[in-house]
Formats: sequence, C-alpha cells, structure tokens
Amino acid sequence: MAISRRTLLGRLGAGAAALVAERRLALGGALAAANRSGEPIRLDRNENPYGPSARVMAVMRDAASAAASRYPDVEAGELRRRIAGLHRVAPEQVVLGCGSSEILRTAIDVLVGPGKKLVTSLPSFEPIGGWARRAGAEVVGVRVSRDYRHDLDAMLARIDVETRLVYICNPNNPTGRLTGRRDLEVFLRKIPAACVVLMDEAYHHYAAGSPDYSSFIDRPVDDGRVIVTRTFSKIHGLAGLRVGYAVAAVPVARVLAAHTLADGVSVVAARAAGAALDDSGHVRTSVIRNTDDRQEFLNQATARMLRLDSLTNFVMVDTGRPALEVLEHFRKHGILLGGPVPEFDKHIRVSLGTPAEMQEFWRVWDLTLGHKMSM
Ligand code: PLP
Repeated sequence: MAISRRTLLGRLGAGAAALVAERRLALGGALAAANRSGEPIRLDRNENPYGPSARVMAVMRDAASAAASRYPDVEAGELRRRIAGLHRVAPEQVVLGCGSSEILRTAIDVLVGPGKKLVTSLPSFEPIGGWARRAGAEVVGVRVSRDYRHDLDAMLARIDVETRLVYICNPNNPTGRLTGRRDLEVFLRKIPAACVVLMDEAYHHYAAGSPDYSSFIDRPVDDGRVIVTRTFSKIHGLAGLRVGYAVAAVPVARVLAAHTLADGVSVVAARAAGAALDDSGHVRTSVIRNTDDRQEFLNQATARMLRLDSLTNFVMVDTGRPALEVLEHFRKHGILLGGPVPEFDKHIRVSLGTPAEMQEFWRVWDLTLGHKMSM
C-alpha cells in the first residue's frame, strides 16, 4: 500500500522527521556546493584523495566480472587468513566488517546498554557516542587535554563500576593528535577488569613513523580486554568499498563475529582489500604523499599565523569564529569540510586533498574570511 510522505513522517515521529529534513538539507547543501568542475571538493571525510593503486583497481575489475554472482564465503575466509598472517595472529582473532564502523557499532551494541556506560573523549570519532546512546547506554565524554590528546587521567577519573567500554581513537579524529603508547599502557593497567577498551587505529599508517606510537596489533599487550580496529578506508583508499576489521582475543572475536552481518564484506571488497595489503609500495607512497601534503598545509597555515599540528590525513583548525559560518563560506565556494563538534564550535576539520584541491582551499580561505581568521 502506498503511503503519503506526510503519513510516513507522522509514523516516523517528530524526531525522525527532523532527521529526514536535516539529511535532505545536508544533501541539498552538498549538491549546491559545486566547484568549477561541477563537483564539490570533498575535504570532509578523511579519505585518501589519491585512491587505491592501479594493481588494486585491476583486482577490483577482475573480481567484479569473475565473481560478482557469488557469495563471498571463500574471499572473506581468504581475507581473514591474510590479515591474520600479516599480524601473526590466529584467523579466529580476526573479525571482518562492512567498514570498521560495523565492528565499532557491534562492539557497542554487545558491550553497553541500559545501566552501562561508555567513556570516550570529546571530541573523538563522533558516531561512537550516538551508537552508545541508541543502545541505551550513558555516554561519558571527557574533554581532550589542552594539546588535544586523550586526557587519560581525566578519563580514568570518570570510569566506574558501570563502565563497560572505553573508546580510544589513536591518533584521534578529529584532533589529529597522538596519545603516547606508554601512557596508554599505564592507563590499561589502571582500569577495572570488567572494562573493555576499543582501540581505533583507523589512522594507524599515518602515525606509524612516530616514536611515541606503536600499534596494539603490531605490539600487543597481554590483555584480552583490548579490541583493535583498522580500516581499508583511509591509507588504502577504499572507503567506498566498505571493509574493515578487528583483532581481538578469540572469545571476544567470536562474540563480535556472531553479531556482525554474515557476508557483510562483498567479493569485490574482500579481494581488493587482500590486494591492498599486498601492495605495501602503495601504502608507502600514500604515506609520503600525505606527509608532503600535510607539511604544505602546515606551511600555509603558519604563513597565516595559525598554529596547527596533526599526525594524520586531516587537520583540526581553530578558526576563531563560528565554525558554521566558516563551513557555509566554503560550501558556497564548492568545498565541503568537517565539523563542528560539540564544545569546539570554532573548529573545523580539513581532510587533506590533492595539491590542486588544497590550493583552492587556501584561495577560498583568503577570500574575505582570511583577514578575520588569521589571528
Ligand atoms: N574510525 C575512525 C576514527 C574514523 O575516522 C572512521 C571514518 O572516518 C571510521 C572509524 C570508520 O571507517 P570505516 O570506513 O572503516 O567504517
């Protein structure tokens, strides 16, 4: 039976209707934000602007033509084994997901709910808090330190017997800053036994060269409470394919796997992800390009008296004025940016694009806004 839009919105309720309207506005805004080529410059989702390697593209094309009609049992199994081999863990410790988002959300659904708490930083990867609230849990947001790292002492102070999950995004999105490995280990030793730590290493490759950083997959701690997530959406340039994974102790991995979607990673995504892991040259090239692009961004920022830092493929910028105005200014000029986040209403997050895209970014920055924003 066909139902009218009004009836549908009535059934969804006012909250959902507002959400639909908001989404439509956002979509309209994105479409309106067209640069000269007719497409907006997307500096809002921390993707790899250079995309996957030619080798991975070839594997994707081949997978689409040879195996699109098949369910991905074989490919998913192979990818799990490939990831397990890379990290020297058992395949049973690896959980695949439709992006790491699926695993993060699954962990939240499984571990927290009414009467339970999730402790996270403010700001951090935003959907986490929303998913936990939707699961009925209380979300305790702890403001990052003055230098934009996780404030582990303050987080510790907020962890109590009802806390089941702590989310640590390292390096952190959107601040782009790193929390040192030694501090994290001390933190792990202090939290209660019932508390699981979700260690999100989405931006691992960008931080891997830093002396303060060490992945909890590559250098694990003997602690079954740590779940580490990684994604193919960033350095590997495969955000559109939706594939990510977690490495956890076998009992935890089993629970997570039982709650993720069976066959949630497609044949094309699984084969492309496997090929991306094999293509270490592309990872190296992407890291080098990102380092160069980030340095150029920081140089441009310094020339405008902005003091910034980042260890990732995005930079958080304090614009000194309402971020919504700044976003709107850029949107009108065909550039989409990230932010603002609660309590940081003057900050925007700029994902690093290609040099040409970043040139356009600074050109737009300097238009009228430039004078007011450079302090
Ligand atoms: N974790 C962090 C910190 C992110 O920034 C993102 C995406 O931007 C994700 C997870 C989700 O990535 P995926 O594409 O693997 O779902």
